[in-house]
Amino acid sequence: MGIVGIYLFIFGCCIGSFVNVVTYRLPLDQSIVYPYSRCPKCKTKINWFDNLPLISWFFLRGKCRSCKTKISFSYPIVELSTGLLAWLNLYANPSIYSQTPVPFTIFCGIILSSILITLAILDFKYFWLPNAITIGGLILGVSCSFIIDLLNELDQFSYLIYSIAGSLLGFSIFYLLSLIGKNIFKKAVMGGGDLKLSALLGAWLGTKGLLISIWLSFNFAGIFVILGLLLKKIKRNQRIPFGVFLSFSGLIVWYFGNEIFVKLIF
Ligand SMILES: [Zn+2]
Repeated sequence: MGIVGIYLFIFGCCIGSFVNVVTYRLPLDQSIVYPYSRCPKCKTKINWFDNLPLISWFFLRGKCRSCKTKISFSYPIVELSTGLLAWLNLYANPSIYSQTPVPFTIFCGIILSSILITLAILDFKYFWLPNAITIGGLILGVSCSFIIDLLNELDQFSYLIYSIAGSLLGFSIFYLLSLIGKNIFKKAVMGGGDLKLSALLGAWLGTKGLLISIWLSFNFAGIFVILGLLLKKIKRNQRIPFGVFLSFSGLIVWYFGNEIFVKLIF
């Protein structure tokens, strides 16, 4: 368990490094594979030893080697988070995957956590949930369920059906919410991205996990807004990045499983 955990952590940190590239370049409409990393200020190519996840930032003390421009602290934080999330997959308990071989569940967990972290960062910074990631992630989720059916030699494709049902439910709930919101507030209260993210969660967590995630995300968002208003950090009618709360809630449901929340709610 120990050595596997270390491997998972290191692997997760490397994914975090890629997440940093994606969340930096995608909004600028740049390619995410080419060119290699350069300092955004002085354009110097970053050597591989200055580009190691987590470690290099500390060795460089958060500054570019050639021009000394500050490198945001968010980079190592993201790498640390994806590393920890990858490692935590050893202890994850996603209800829909309880009958699945553990290595495959870990593999799925790493994919899902990377997708959700990327979406949370993009929504937080730009109020943007790109279709390429939400729809791509949805397809991946449905595909993983299909693979589970094949692994378990189930001929009724029950996982696949559960996953598709989850994504349809996720889509429908947010579609309804946006319709109701439009009628009451006369403007769009839910972005189209939230709708697809909710469908993505349904594909990965199934109908039950999805409903719990939505319930959690409204609670978190509510607490956030109330605290923000009390501390005067946010204004009334200010837009909030709801995708952050959805992503966070989806991750919680993946790691803790459904049962603990079912007991909490009922
Ligand atoms: Zn530089």
